Amino acid sequence: MTIALVTGANKGIGREIAAGLVARGVTVLLCARDAELGATAAQEVGARPMVLDVTDDGSVRAAAREVGERWGRLDVLVNNAGISGDLASQAPGRIDLANVRQVFETNVLGVIRVTEAMSPWLRRSDAARVVNVSSGVGSLGHQTDPGHYMSGLPASLAYPPSKTALNAVTVQYARAFARDGILVNAVAPGACATDFTKDLGLGITRTAADGAAVALRMATLGADGPTGTFVDDEGTVRW
Ligand code: NAP
Repeated sequence: MTIALVTGANKGIGREIAAGLVARGVTVLLCARDAELGATAAQEVGARPMVLDVTDDGSVRAAAREVGERWGRLDVLVNNAGISGDLASQAPGRIDLANVRQVFETNVLGVIRVTEAMSPWLRRSDAARVVNVSSGVGSLGHQTDPGHYMSGLPASLAYPPSKTALNAVTVQYARAFARDGILVNAVAPGACATDFTKDLGLGITRTAADGAAVALRMATLGADGPTGTFVDDEGTVRW
């Protein structure tokens, strides 16, 4: 039996990652910060609900305790929960630091908080996998390439840098966990039609399930799988 925990899984890409893991026979702890939303989604996809707010120490500690007491190990951790923050107040010259702080608290510190709390249980697994749901906008290569459309997006000091930092965190965990055989990778799901993007008016046709595919691939890597990489559907994404 494989045990997986997915954060921010009551909707969007996280929900599809949870559903995809269930379809592969995995026991999934579908995490949500709202108990009711989590319970509904878990019932719909055939997972077990777990309350977890990645910004809250007590909530994360309680979830880790539950994992330890009930299963004594964790085979797959998908750090999916993320926020964009208010876009207007992350533009250089119009910055609201509270907004920037909240985005980093969720997208970066949240991942560290959850991974730290779960690491004793990941180490108890024979073949643990950690997947950090990043974004192509976190690629400094894309952001600085005049030929890439992302270099033409409005400059922003919260969401894109938070995903760049998440990529750096991914590399550090990959190094730290290498001797335990834990593979840690970052994925870029691509622009998907979810609540995250619904107000952007971009006419996105890619679904949350499409975005979940790369996370599912990295969550189910074999023993010879890579670690410390950043990938999307096409392959390696430059840092
Ligand atoms: P979404 O539909 O807005 O879902 C985000 C999920 O994260 C929700 O379940 C949300 O819970 C949860 N969440 C937010 N803050 C949380 C917290 N403090 N603790 C626990 N859960 C929290 O967005 P999505 O499109 O599925 O995005 C999922 C991930 O993919 C994010 O990391 C995002 O950065 C990344 N991504 C998305 C796209 C895209 O185009 N959609 C592209 C690249 C990367 P609530 O329902 O309670 O708010």
